Amino acid sequence: MGKRKFKAESKRLLDLMINSIYSQREVFLRELISNASDAIDKIYYRALTDENLSFNQSDYYIKIIPNKETRSLTLIDTGIGMTQEELEKNLGTIAKSGSFNFKSENEVKDGHDIIGQFGVGFYAAFMVADVVTVKSKALGSDEAFKWESKGSDGYTIEPTEKETVGTEITLKLKENEDDENFEEYLQEYRLKEIIKKYSDFIRYPIKMDVTKS
Ligand code: ADP
Ligand code: MG
Repeated sequence: MGKRKFKAESKRLLDLMINSIYSQREVFLRELISNASDAIDKIYYRALTDENLSFNQSDYYIKIIPNKETRSLTLIDTGIGMTQEELEKNLGTIAKSGSFNFKSENEVKDGHDIIGQFGVGFYAAFMVADVVTVKSKALGSDEAFKWESKGSDGYTIEPTEKETVGTEITLKLKENEDDENFEEYLQEYRLKEIIKKYSDFIRYPIKMDVTKS
């Protein structure tokens, strides 16, 4: 499948977000963990109403794999996954993202993080990554698809191999800039610190696979 372009407003929003909305880049991890947790919630609620589906708490987790050799960070979840159409719809248009709807009905509280009001969730990954790859297999499907994007110029979707239901997101970390060393997001202690700071309340286990070097 050829390269698709983001809708024009998405490109503008993506640039805007990357440059201004998030004051701290480290929050990308919170956004991805929160999506993983939402995806596991969805399979959990499905299991409550579908007797053919059993939910074993231990089968559901989020795993983070830093890889220093490839300078990449992978997040795996055993959530509900996405079909090809869902990858297209959910990741192809920022404006369609649930979190993008400006929550004007919610009063802005002092010190409340602006992302809560004006978040762009998934796209926060592009603050630290120059390539984002999402492999996903939806519940009930035997096909898996790979969505890949280098940021605002668009994305591709193609069939891929993935055995288990769920989603695997790989961030190819940016090369270091003057003000930031992206290598920090491959350090176990740093990742743990960010998880503790923003994702302590997540109901599913967050595991980390670390290869000792
Ligand atoms: P929000 O979480 O507020 O909806 P995001 O930009 O964070 O906005 O995510 C957009 C959408 O992409 C989600 O609503 C969800 O449908 C889908 N999505 C993102 N990450 C995952 C994931 N790990 N598993 C399943 N679906 C996901
Ligand atoms: Mg989200």
